[in-house]
Amino acid sequence: MREVSSLRQEHQSPLMRIVDYIVVHEMAHMTEKNHTPEFWHIIGLILPDYETRKEWLDKNGKYFSGWIENSNCLKNSIPIYD
Ligand SMILES: [Zn+2]
Repeated sequence: MREVSSLRQEHQSPLMRIVDYIVVHEMAHMTEKNHTPEFWHIIGLILPDYETRKEWLDKNGKYFSGWIENSNCLKNSIPIYD
């Protein structure tokens, strides 16, 4: 099971790695409501590199906000996550 999970992450597109982080983040809130150390521990168990994904989303999430509100995503330059 662990090998399958690792293989999946290696072949995942960069954007899907961010989507996975968002999904895991929201699912962790089902166990822990607040952003406590336990909350981040839970995420770390599932996504050991979550900090990299979180940092990217914290920095670039604003581009997706405009994308959803205006549906002008193709006119905006969205940074590449790698
Ligand atoms: Zn949260």
